[in-house]
Amino acid sequence: MQSQLKLLRQMTVSGTFNTLKSSNLISWKSTGRLQQTIAGCIEKSGKTLHSGEVSKVKIFPGFAGEGRYFKFQSKSVPASIDFAKVSPLCTTLCKDGVRVRTVEHLLSALEAKGVDNCKIEIENQDCDSQEVEVPILDGSACAWLEAIEKVGVKEALDQHGNNGEKVAPYLNEPVHVWRNDSFIAAFPSPKVRITCGVHFPKVESMRNAGLIKGGSLENALVCSISDGWLNPSLRFPDEPCRHKVLDLIGDLSLFAQNGTQGLPVAHIVAFKGGHALHIDFARHLLGTI
Ligand SMILES: [Zn+2]
Repeated sequence: MQSQLKLLRQMTVSGTFNTLKSSNLISWKSTGRLQQTIAGCIEKSGKTLHSGEVSKVKIFPGFAGEGRYFKFQSKSVPASIDFAKVSPLCTTLCKDGVRVRTVEHLLSALEAKGVDNCKIEIENQDCDSQEVEVPILDGSACAWLEAIEKVGVKEALDQHGNNGEKVAPYLNEPVHVWRNDSFIAAFPSPKVRITCGVHFPKVESMRNAGLIKGGSLENALVCSISDGWLNPSLRFPDEPCRHKVLDLIGDLSLFAQNGTQGLPVAHIVAFKGGHALHIDFARHLLGTI
């Protein structure tokens, strides 16, 4: 009740909050923290994983209550589950004919670092295309995390100079979604916990389908049945599993609305998870599937 009152006050004060989408599976509660944004600008460019072309990303501080959104040419695409589309091996945001691909690693870093509001401008080489992709960099979120740490984060203010309380979706009861032998189950918990099991698909079928054109040993973890890991060295022995957690956080960050936390506060158990299952899970929590 107290948190509902707080939220109501926040909505009244800032004037930028709409009613948060909800369902009986989750409750929006205070995290006891204020919404944040980045303290400076970030710019990175690099090759993209699927098209293999070069794209450039510039991240700017955002107002409290705006949330995270992409800007491509003159169009805005909110980093919201409402616009998420699963494409093979990545998560894509689609709105008004614009497609922003491979958003998950960048969004995961922003969610993890508490950058709740920011504008992400993105440009690609092909000016006529309505499709753009976030650079893959080394395939992890490391470069994004380092860039965020370098500029730092600060309290976000709305257009009237008011701060905004940060709320998070708390899971009310156990839930599960599944596809074939993959599943995500989640249980109420006072803090976020993630347990993950992995499984590796065959890479050749993706290449044959015209995907991962920009994929290489520099930005992917590749395992040979006969020779083991083909990469020079993994950062951690369990890096493939950590990467799945990274993807999960990036996809569930799309649950964020108006600068809230996206990642549900729950113990989330994922086995053979992937982008499609993550999006199913987020939509299930909102009761939209
Ligand atoms: Zn990934």
